[in-house]
Order: sequence, then structure tokens, then C-alpha cells
Amino acid sequence: MHFAPLNTWLNFNNNDFALITGPCGAESFEQLEQTIIALKQQNIHYALFRAGVWKPRTRPNSFEGKGEEALKWLLDLKLKYSIKTTVEVANAEHVELALKYKVDALWIGARTTVNPFSVQEIANSLIGRKIPVLIKNPVHADLQLWIGAIERIYAIGNNKIAAIHRGFHSYGNSKYRNKPLWQIPIELKTLFPSLPIINDPSHICGKRELIIDVAQKALNICMDGLMIESHVNPKKALSDAEQQLSAESLSCLLSDLVSRKNKSENIFVNDKLTQLRKIIDEIDDELINILKQRIAVVEEIGEYKKENNISVFQLERWQSILNTRSQWAKKMGVSQQHVEKIFQLLHQESIRLQNEVMSKASKQ
Ligand code: PEP
Ligand code: MN
Repeated sequence: MHFAPLNTWLNFNNNDFALITGPCGAESFEQLEQTIIALKQQNIHYALFRAGVWKPRTRPNSFEGKGEEALKWLLDLKLKYSIKTTVEVANAEHVELALKYKVDALWIGARTTVNPFSVQEIANSLIGRKIPVLIKNPVHADLQLWIGAIERIYAIGNNKIAAIHRGFHSYGNSKYRNKPLWQIPIELKTLFPSLPIINDPSHICGKRELIIDVAQKALNICMDGLMIESHVNPKKALSDAEQQLSAESLSCLLSDLVSRKNKSENIFVNDKLTQLRKIIDEIDDELINILKQRIAVVEEIGEYKKENNISVFQLERWQSILNTRSQWAKKMGVSQQHVEKIFQLLHQESIRLQNEVMSKASKQ
């Protein structure tokens, strides 16, 4: 699959990344206009002004959006302030209305991405229409479902697609409203290198204070854009009040962010990186050699256990390996969690190898 580069269909306005901002929900004409004016006063340039006009709410009797009425407000404001707009669509009727009111890009929300019927309905209603589609990750950590939604939109001949990483629901307490699980968007990028990925720190964090940290992490791994909710009066917002930013806070956040490049033009920087990578290559080569030695001893232990009828899994030995390695890591200033994970993998492999030794021997 080949996707159109993001800067060919969104105006970065001299930013290093595409910024999408605006309130969680369109509440009134005044709220939208005041938000636009506040962003303008802070000199914030953005590629798309977002506002949900149909809000998928967890429980009924919450603010569910203003529907078609809000689309009219957005169209008036788009013309008045020369901005581009985006709204969430969840079915074919939403698509028709959004197109009727000249919305510039559509986004598919996390609760819709989970449902292939809905995504297909949206895709079918977009056949022959050239409008960019932003696809949020599904609520839960299912990369295939995210890819499936992207494929359904791509299959109708639309390559103006971006994925939006908005984090993943997890049961129980977490610092985040939705855990970022960075390895998932990284895997998506590895599978589809040309697919632009936009990070949505607002819905990951759920709290204003955490947004900067997540946004910076997204730029550190070269994500292509940020979708950040902003509101003229965040505390009074009818949805997601705790995570929206005033234009002033957004402006501070943007000036604190450091954007990273994929490559440097400076040959000294590149030389230094090449040297450091050579060192990593040597260390990894050594690591694999040591691993080979460890495997040989593991197999010897397996043979010995077989001869003496001793079980492959030894709980006490395993507990002591985990404890001692974790303590050694602590002493060396290496993350204990990281080392524990590595030893879990090593132990799994040792069990597998010793089982193999046992079954081979028993066939003789
Ligand atoms: C939103 O963007 O306001 C929204 C409802 O997002 P999500 O689908 O990520 O929950
Ligand atoms: Mn929201």
C-alpha cells in the first residue's frame, strides 16, 4: 500500500508536524468562534480545526453533540476564518452530512474502528469521493483491527489516510486514560512505512498536565502530527473537560516541544551516529555469542537432568535466578523490569530446549 505523504494534503503551516486542534465537541457557535479567535490570538497555526458534532458517549444523557446544526456553524466559521475542518463520522448518514457542509477531512473514532460493519459502511459511502480520512486506533489493543479499517478505506481508492494513535483502554488503574502502548503504532509504521501517524495525547492522557510528556514522546519517534483538544473555556466543556487546553496553554505546550528529524543534514552528526551504531553492532554480536554459550550450558544441564531423572522446571531455582538478576541489575543501574523481562524470555527458551533434550533422549 502506498499512502500520500501528509504534507501533500495537509498544510503544516511551517510547523514540523501537522497540528490538529479544536474542542472535543461543538457546543455552540460562540464556543467554536471564541476558540478560533483565542487560537488566532496565540498565533497558533493548525492544519485542521477539529470538533465532534456527534459524540459517542459511554453513558446516555451526556452531551451527545449538536449534529447538523453544528455542521452549519463549522461551515460558516470555515468560510469566515479560512480554516479547514474535521469531524468524527460513525455511519453513512454522518458522511453525507459532513460532505454536504464541506468538512475537509473525516475522522473515524476509536469506538467505530472496532466495528468492521460500520467502517465498511463508511468506506462504501465514500466511493468516488476524495476526502482525507483519519483513522483512530480501536479502543482495545488490536493492531489487526486498526489495519483492517485502514485497508477498508484504502480499498475504495483513497490514499489520503492517516492513522491516529489515541491509546488503548485497559481495565484497572493507570496513570493514563488510555495506555499509549507505543510498540503498537511503531509496529504499524514498520508494516506500512508510508502511512502517516498522528498522535492524540489528549485522549491518551485524559488529564491536561500529562499531555506535554506524551506529545514530546510522539515527536521523539517522528510521528507526523498531533491532535490536541483545545477549548475557549476548558473547565466548562461539555465533554472531556479535564483534558482540553486553553489556547494559551496550548501555545506554551507547543513552544516547549522539540521536534526531531529522521535524519540530519550535518555530516558530523551522521558520522558520529554511524560510529555509535558500529559499537552497538559489536555489542550485539558479543551478546549473541554469550547467548550461544548459555544455550550450550542449558543443554548440558538438560542432558544431566535426563540422566538423573530430574524435572526440567525447578521453581526455586527460577525464583532465585529472577531475584538475583534483578538485584544485579539494580546494582548496575539497569532497569530491573527490563532485566526481568529478558530473563523471563531466556527461561522460557531454556525450558523449551531442555524439553527437546528430554524427548530426544527418551526416543533412543
Ligand atoms: C474525540 O476525538 O473526541 C473522541 C471521541 O475520540 P476517541 O474516538 O479517540 O475516543
Ligand atoms: Mn474528546
